Amino acid sequence: MYDVNEIRRDFPILSREVNGRPLVYFDNGASAQKPRAVIDAITHSYCQEYSNVHRGLHFLSNLMTDRYEAVRGKIGRFLNAAHENEIVMNSGTTEGINMVAYGWAMPRMEAGDEIILTVMEHHANIVPWHFLRERLGVRLVWIDIDDDGHLDPQRVLDAITPRTRLIAVSHVSNVLGTRVDVKAISEGARARGVPVLVDGSQAAMHMRVDVRDIGCDFYTITGHKLYGPSGSGAIYCRSERMAEMSPFLGGGIMIKEVHKDRISWNDPPLKFEAGTPPIVQMIGLGVAIEYLDTLGMAAIERHETALRDYAVSRFGDVERLRLQGTTSDKAGIFSFTLEGAAHAHDISTVLDKKGVAVRAGHHCAGPLMERLGLTATCRASFGLYNTMDEIDVMIEALELAQDLFG
Ligand code: PLP
Repeated sequence: MYDVNEIRRDFPILSREVNGRPLVYFDNGASAQKPRAVIDAITHSYCQEYSNVHRGLHFLSNLMTDRYEAVRGKIGRFLNAAHENEIVMNSGTTEGINMVAYGWAMPRMEAGDEIILTVMEHHANIVPWHFLRERLGVRLVWIDIDDDGHLDPQRVLDAITPRTRLIAVSHVSNVLGTRVDVKAISEGARARGVPVLVDGSQAAMHMRVDVRDIGCDFYTITGHKLYGPSGSGAIYCRSERMAEMSPFLGGGIMIKEVHKDRISWNDPPLKFEAGTPPIVQMIGLGVAIEYLDTLGMAAIERHETALRDYAVSRFGDVERLRLQGTTSDKAGIFSFTLEGAAHAHDISTVLDKKGVAVRAGHHCAGPLMERLGLTATCRASFGLYNTMDEIDVMIEALELAQDLFG
């Protein structure tokens, strides 16, 4: 039984006030709040168990190494990878996509090769590919969305040519909440020999992810959106792709032998984890994943689907509110503007005065903003602890904003 009031008590920050009002935290798309179990695990690690990993023989170093390495298995199971060695632990999606761009794509691409992207991508899944465009002459092929935010997987597959080397696509749009059929894209791409990278930053917190069912080659997650610490994350790399990949960052741990005139690499995945990793952050992420497993991703998804449907009905009460992204199966991520009214920043300031935290701006999605013909939106993104009452508070504040700026 999913008792949201009980669950809220696990998150200390949710009991604070902002501007004299109970905090309504709807900025989960940017970063989610942390349950006490994660906070306690971090404190415990630093107070009782802290040491560096992979390099010591003493008690604490062995203990921390065991704790750190156990997280790889938890992430592997969370994503249903075939083996935990297909998981590279890192600081988040930005690092994961850069690793693929530098370590896998750069050595095997040349001028005229093509990378397929959608106009909905976050800058983290755009800028590294621009590096390849600028430095190698790779062509970026952009796939458009429908006006409601839907992405037709066939449109992606139809864009494949003999020069296509990679498809890089978000599982869930951070602006529109659109769910992308990454399974259909992966299946079609695989049949044509084209690898697929899925940016799962916004998906993994809202739904059960199964990388083997999807059939993708790379899948990135970001720990701080999964109710874990910032600076933690991971990327799933199908073992064939992992074997093809060159190291991205060089340093300690990722080597086997270093001599003046030759060098050899550690085995994957450590080959891709140079230097001291985000040790305690990853341990915190492991606890966050256990927390999600205990609640159950299916139960979280059901709760958030009910929130989404309630929000859709309530947004209709705000006369001049325009929603961007209206597909019926979208995740609980809502971007909106108030027609003829203030800038998104002004709207978010009014909401903030009522204790409601939303995001306002371009959401690191320049091409999508161009597609929508907007410079900014407000974004309310729901998490596992949000309630319908909180949606009512936001709607009331939006009605006030409408009156103020009308
Ligand atoms: N991709 C998407 C869809 C995102 O929403 C975000 C963060 O907002 C990122 C990538 C980047 O994640 P991070 O900055 O944690 O690496």
